[in-house]
Amino acid sequence: MKQSILVVNCGSSSLKLALFDENENKLASAIAERLNGQDAFARIDGDEQAVTLPATADHKQALKALVSAFSDRQLMSTTPTAIGHRVVHGGETFRQAVLIDSDVIKAIKGCADLAPLHNPVNLVGIEATREQFPDTEQVAVFDTAYHQTLAPRAYLYALPESYYRDLNVRRYGFHGTSHFFMAHEAARLLEKTPATTSIISAHLGNGCSITAIKDGLSVDTSMGLTPLEGLVMGTRSGDIDPGLFDYLRSRGMQQAEVHKMLNQKSGLLGISGQTNDMRSLCELADHGHEPSALAIEIFCFRLAKYIGAMMASLSQLDALVFTGGIGENSHRVRKQTVSHLNLLGFDINADMNSHHGRYSDGRIDDTRSRFPILVIPTNEELVIAREAKRLASIA
Ligand code: ADP
Repeated sequence: MKQSILVVNCGSSSLKLALFDENENKLASAIAERLNGQDAFARIDGDEQAVTLPATADHKQALKALVSAFSDRQLMSTTPTAIGHRVVHGGETFRQAVLIDSDVIKAIKGCADLAPLHNPVNLVGIEATREQFPDTEQVAVFDTAYHQTLAPRAYLYALPESYYRDLNVRRYGFHGTSHFFMAHEAARLLEKTPATTSIISAHLGNGCSITAIKDGLSVDTSMGLTPLEGLVMGTRSGDIDPGLFDYLRSRGMQQAEVHKMLNQKSGLLGISGQTNDMRSLCELADHGHEPSALAIEIFCFRLAKYIGAMMASLSQLDALVFTGGIGENSHRVRKQTVSHLNLLGFDINADMNSHHGRYSDGRIDDTRSRFPILVIPTNEELVIAREAKRLASIA
């Protein structure tokens, strides 16, 4: 039976799995949703038939059901050769991916205060796979690790120094696996090496972040202590005046309510009053829905301002890169964003932007543009599979 690398991505109520062979071919992927609820549901991508789960299945039961479904379809042997886990927060402890042992588990728990919604559930996934596959080497790949090369000028907030020293308050940055992949893919497309390539990488999905990458290394990024800072996102506000907290408290709002408003009710959803989904917003805007058009405008304007800001970290720019569901698919967002950047020398080619899929080099810049502009599909699962394979030293 073939070797297989299992990639595990645990969300609060979901579990995503991807399976790769040793040559980096994706064999299968699957998702379980609404876990720990009455209507838990699981399916393998491309397979109409749902995978049966026990009532109110948890992550462990879903994992077991999906792995045996992979096995029934002859996609893997009963035991994967290596397992890679996405872990959101590695604090300052983890600068790269690591093989998981009990010390690593303890350290991931130690970072849970910084990511209370994510790290505990990532650990549930790790415990579940360790229980099911006790003899398989497991690797943790951190969203924050790639940004550990930021210099103090980029990671420190202008707060009293003790907040960093005693409370670990600093910019950590997220989406590291995607930005890392962009650094490598952009270098490949530009026929350069990552170590000599400098890019601005805009990851635009439900969560959005932008990173300045100098000679292959992250030197500045828009997400901060938490994934709330920076760009406008699907339901998150991004940057906000911290004075808002005092003001809303004076108006009687509780901390939990403010937290929910900023994380779940703001961003594209909040401005449009309709949806956090960019594709639907574009359709609504096309039909004359003004709040949707305004949500797109604010999204693109904030992004353009950040692209300008990221240039302060670089001494050369080899490409501006768009990725993530919105970055890869929305020609409207790309066009509207770049329209604010003509003064800096960015120019988009309308035809290439609308039909970028036709061009294998990913380029959408006009000949007049001072800098190449690229659209590159992200592949965080592949990065995790590669790290798992590398660290588990698969023959
Ligand atoms: P996640 O961060 O959850 O992985 P994705 O990277 O899949 O999210 O991005 C989801 C976003 O991409 C949604 O806002 C969705 O509407 C948007 N998107 C996907 N396809 C298109 C499209 N063709 N046009 C505009 N937006 C799109």
